[in-house]
Amino acid sequence: MAAKMTTHAKAQPAAKKAPAKKVVGQSAGKSSKVAGPRGANSMRTGPDDRGFFGMFGGRFVAETLMPLILELEKAYDDARADPKFAAEIAYLNTHYSGRPSPLYYADRLTKHLGGAKIYFKRDELNHTGSHKINNCLGQILLARRMGKTRIIAETGAGQHGVAVATVCAKYGMPCEIYMGATDVERQSPNVARMKLLGAKVNPVTSGAGTLKDAMNEALRDWVTNVRDTYYLIGTAAGPHPYPAMVRDFQSIIGDEVREQMLAAEGRLPDTLVACIGGGSNAIGLFHPFLDDKSVSIYGVEAGGHGLDVPNGHAASMNGGKPGVLHGNRTYLLQDDDGQILEGHSISAGLDYPGVGPEHSWLKDTGRVKYVYATDKEALHALQVCTQQEGIIPALEPAHALAYILKLAPKLPKSNLLVMNLCGRGDKDLFTVAKALGMTI
Ligand SMILES: *Cc1c(COP(=O)(O)O)cnc(C)c1O
Repeated sequence: MAAKMTTHAKAQPAAKKAPAKKVVGQSAGKSSKVAGPRGANSMRTGPDDRGFFGMFGGRFVAETLMPLILELEKAYDDARADPKFAAEIAYLNTHYSGRPSPLYYADRLTKHLGGAKIYFKRDELNHTGSHKINNCLGQILLARRMGKTRIIAETGAGQHGVAVATVCAKYGMPCEIYMGATDVERQSPNVARMKLLGAKVNPVTSGAGTLKDAMNEALRDWVTNVRDTYYLIGTAAGPHPYPAMVRDFQSIIGDEVREQMLAAEGRLPDTLVACIGGGSNAIGLFHPFLDDKSVSIYGVEAGGHGLDVPNGHAASMNGGKPGVLHGNRTYLLQDDDGQILEGHSISAGLDYPGVGPEHSWLKDTGRVKYVYATDKEALHALQVCTQQEGIIPALEPAHALAYILKLAPKLPKSNLLVMNLCGRGDKDLFTVAKALGMTI
């Protein structure tokens, strides 16, 4: 049945396929040049033709969706091979988003911690306040190439919804955003933004009324409006080709870091750190460096109240196990019967019970270390960053910061560490003020 997008759909074999294509990041049409060639043992060539990264990923969707997924895959393959598409994205990144975002040496925080030399990749300075716009610009151009006339999307904290509503306003396209009813309530400033931008916001009351439920509802809409509708997924998850496509659009983060670090220090970074919700900002930073064995990479999940608290965290890789949700196989928070559990995090952007499939594969291969930070640690790190650097980060990257507070002091001063500061804190002010007991 079309409505079942979750655990019971069967894996569909790929229909007749063109000969093997390379799956490479071409976010700005130059990543292969920046990142160097990919050899036979490259970790940057996935997924395979059926969308698998090892045992993870794939396209576990209802049969009615399969033609759409294949149409999308073909359109994306065509777009990637078209220099005009890359040029159009590059133009928008520069003149609409404000890229490249700076690579900033956080000198006071570095001194404060007394170890690694800490750099922030300032993706919070992008238009709309986070990395989400990198992906939305790529996908809206793709939707237009495909002749689609209506955009739908899911959103949790509302950052993706705002970015989608923004690009839809820019191109004059109607859009509907599915958002859990609980999230609509706790993220009201972003709801107001979306409405002002002209989006229709549909509150979803099923389940706990959060991101997972919003994504189910968006998939349902897509099945019933196949002809004119484009589903703009906000993270590196969902059925193939979304995880690879979103990664490619976000890889501009890592591509820029590579160039900027070479310019600043004359060599590659030693350590990369990013927070993990669905994993799009993290894979965007990590992917261009996966073949550079000298680079240590850390993804930081949301530890919420702690991993020993049932339903108290959103650390799907540290506290979950593999299963199928939203069209792909990946690490998930689930009970012994395979029922998906609700994640918790102080950050609404991190409380997704799954994670993009490429991260699950990178975890199992050992290339990336996945760690976690609790709500409390993130709140503390947010204050340290604000007071040391005059930058109020969003609660999501505050989790990455929390891990840096532990990691940096253990590393030598010569260690070049880059953290993706993927969002600004404006949206979280009320949550933070309340958690800290401030009166405002
Ligand atoms: C949405 C969001 C996240 C989580 O999504 P990823 O796909 O894991 O990047 C993290 N940080 C910010 C600022 C966000 O808006």
